[in-house]
Order: sequence, then C-alpha cells, then structure tokens
Amino acid sequence: MAEQFGSFTASELYCPKCRSAQPVRERLLLVLPTGELYEFLCSRCATSLGKRTVTGPAVAAPARPQPGPRPRSPQGRGRPRGLLAG
Ligand SMILES: [Zn+2]
Repeated sequence: MAEQFGSFTASELYCPKCRSAQPVRERLLLVLPTGELYEFLCSRCATSLGKRTVTGPAVAAPARPQPGPRPRSPQGRGRPRGLLAG
C-alpha cells in the first residue's frame, strides 16, 4: 500500500483504542463562516482522535461574468401617429 497522505494533514495519530498510532481519516463536521471543522477518525476503529479547524479564504468572491454590451433591437422609436383629420 502506497501512502499518499498530504503533508498538510496528520497522517497518523495515536489511537487509545487500538493502542497504537493509526492512520486517520478526515471527516468534515461543520462548515463555519470562519472555516471548516474537521474531525480525525481512526481508520481502523473509527474512533474520534481529534478535531481541527481549517480556516479558508476569508472572502471567496464568486466570479461573475462581466455585463457586455447587449445587441439592441433595430426598432425605431418613432410611432406612426399620422391620423390627420383635416
Ligand atoms: Zn483505532
């Protein structure tokens, strides 16, 4: 088995139930306005080994498309009001 854990996560934590260091799984618990709360679970017995809060970018501005020039309909504005009573 090739270990492909990222360097930004704790790959192993001590599990009191397994009585040894076990590889952990990250589980998203809550999404907070300030970040995300993850929980570390033992990949062997699924015991909660710890939590951590990952603070993301403060403001994630959604990329919205620029309003381009709209093609105008070639309708003239003049109304035929030509009922000349005379
Ligand atoms: Zn365990």
